[in-house]
Amino acid sequence: MTELFFKETYSPLSSSELIAKEKANMDEKRFKHCVQVSQTARKLARLNNYDEEKAALAGFIHDYAKQVPVEEYRKVIQEQDFDKDLLNWNRAIWHGIVGTYFIKRDLKITDPEILQAVWRHTTADIEMTTLDKIVFVADFIEPGRDFPDVEKAREVSYKNLDEGVGYELAHTLEFLIENRNKVYPLTLSAYNVWSVK
Ligand code: GDP
Ligand code: FE
Ligand code: FE
Repeated sequence: MTELFFKETYSPLSSSELIAKEKANMDEKRFKHCVQVSQTARKLARLNNYDEEKAALAGFIHDYAKQVPVEEYRKVIQEQDFDKDLLNWNRAIWHGIVGTYFIKRDLKITDPEILQAVWRHTTADIEMTTLDKIVFVADFIEPGRDFPDVEKAREVSYKNLDEGVGYELAHTLEFLIENRNKVYPLTLSAYNVWSVK
């Protein structure tokens, strides 16, 4: 595994503590994905004149809570200040929005920009910061992704981050509709902003 190191700028935990907690909260495949999203986020940050350290950390932790048990999620949504409509959704939607709760609790990260990028990483949003876009797009094009259009997605995203966001939302929406999946309203609103020509 390539060397991983996170400066103690955004968490009181040391880099090795942070990495150990992340590793303990998911299987090996998901961990590898997070490392690769981190590396891709770093590359996108460099290309878009954004703080590479911050992007690398946000990318690393974006799926921290992906494998938290469903019952734990339901309890947190009920007990904490989350929109109760979230109870009608599932972990695909929860692990970004509600994942921020577990990240604050376990990884002690409080930076609002990092938490917002995690919050938005699955659905996107009508307004997105550069960091939001970097994490959203890095998740989609990291080297482990192998869907048929991934090379095109990489080409578009490395050329223009905003177009990468639009490409990804259109692709996700196509996939959701093809499978007759429920579309989270925010995903649709984001599509209308970023994908429509
Ligand atoms: P991952 O966590 O690295 O697998 O990637 P994401 O966080 O981007 O996506 C997680 C899952 O959520 C994927 O299977 C997406 O297809 C799905 N997803 C994204 N947007 C929506 C939506 O609006 N509705 C539903 N039901 N699923 C969605
Ligand atoms: Fe995710
Ligand atoms: Fe991911």
